[in-house]
Amino acid sequence: KEISELIAAGEVIERPSSVIKELVENSIDSGAKHITVEIKNGGTTYMRVTDDGCGMSFGDVPKAFLRHATSKIREKEDLENIITLGFRGEALASVAAVARVEIMTKQREELYGTLYTIEGSVEKSHEESGCPDGTTVIIRDLFYNVPARRKFMKKDVTEANAVSTILQKITMSHPDIAFRFIRDNRTEFHSGGDGELFSAIYAVYGRDFARDLIPVDYEYEGVKVGGYVIKPLYSKNNRAFQNFFVNGRYVRSRLCSAALENAYTNMIMTGKFPACVLLIDLAPSAMDVNIHPTKAEVRFTDEKSVTDAIYFAVKNAMMKDGL
Ligand code: ADP
Ligand code: MG
Repeated sequence: KEISELIAAGEVIERPSSVIKELVENSIDSGAKHITVEIKNGGTTYMRVTDDGCGMSFGDVPKAFLRHATSKIREKEDLENIITLGFRGEALASVAAVARVEIMTKQREELYGTLYTIEGSVEKSHEESGCPDGTTVIIRDLFYNVPARRKFMKKDVTEANAVSTILQKITMSHPDIAFRFIRDNRTEFHSGGDGELFSAIYAVYGRDFARDLIPVDYEYEGVKVGGYVIKPLYSKNNRAFQNFFVNGRYVRSRLCSAALENAYTNMIMTGKFPACVLLIDLAPSAMDVNIHPTKAEVRFTDEKSVTDAIYFAVKNAMMKDGL
């Protein structure tokens, strides 16, 4: 049983950033308005996610750590939306299999909260405890019981950067939630949660970046394109600043990058790449979020209309800006 538990965990949990992604998505699902993420040593020894969401009841906490336990699929129709639900109740079970987990949680209407600890899938404690409304999950010593996995983790700075990158994208796709990211006792960024995409970008990438953006707002053949692109002069040395959110979800897409870059042809020096935070909205039936939910890959039914929509949207934005 223990072996199969570890193998299953490996499917979901690759490195600190995948843990953080799962925990933060749970916090978002819980209706939180404030989410704090703290890591130490790249997350390998310590990760904490604190939210002010709905919390869990005393009895529900241990259940949340059972594989395939999810409070999020009640109806059969929900299964059709399974991709948007992340891991169908695998995340907490998987993390608990390969780390030491401590969770404090309290529902607003309850007098007391719950403190629960579990290590390598073994429950260590389950008691009532005074704690603030919402949930805090602390993960210590990731892969402490899986030396082979531990070896695959990169240098702390690399792991921390991966966490930072994922959080940046989550922050930009949820401008209505205030995020704080603390890395080795220092706040790396925090967003205000005022609901404005521009504020979230400013929080994540800083003032200089935000200053060089132009707004995009366009619709073409049922594909809406909003957000911001960078002025050609301020293009970057790599594609790390290309952010595409399709129906609110971060995706990696060669097609989107190519459409964006085509709109900049003849406008930038070779070897430079435009930056963007583009929100692409289309009918859910017009896309197919692929295979493995962590891969963040997307396939469009009608590739041409998406390509054209992005291209025209960016051209239009530049024209309006006098470029
Ligand atoms: P899933 O998110 O797919 O349901 P998880 O393993 O990530 O599976 O979480 C299991 C369950 O634990 C969730 O369905 C939810 O009920 C509960 N849960 C996890 N994190 C939180 C949180 N931060 N706030 C409230 N409930 C949570
Ligand atoms: Mg989850």
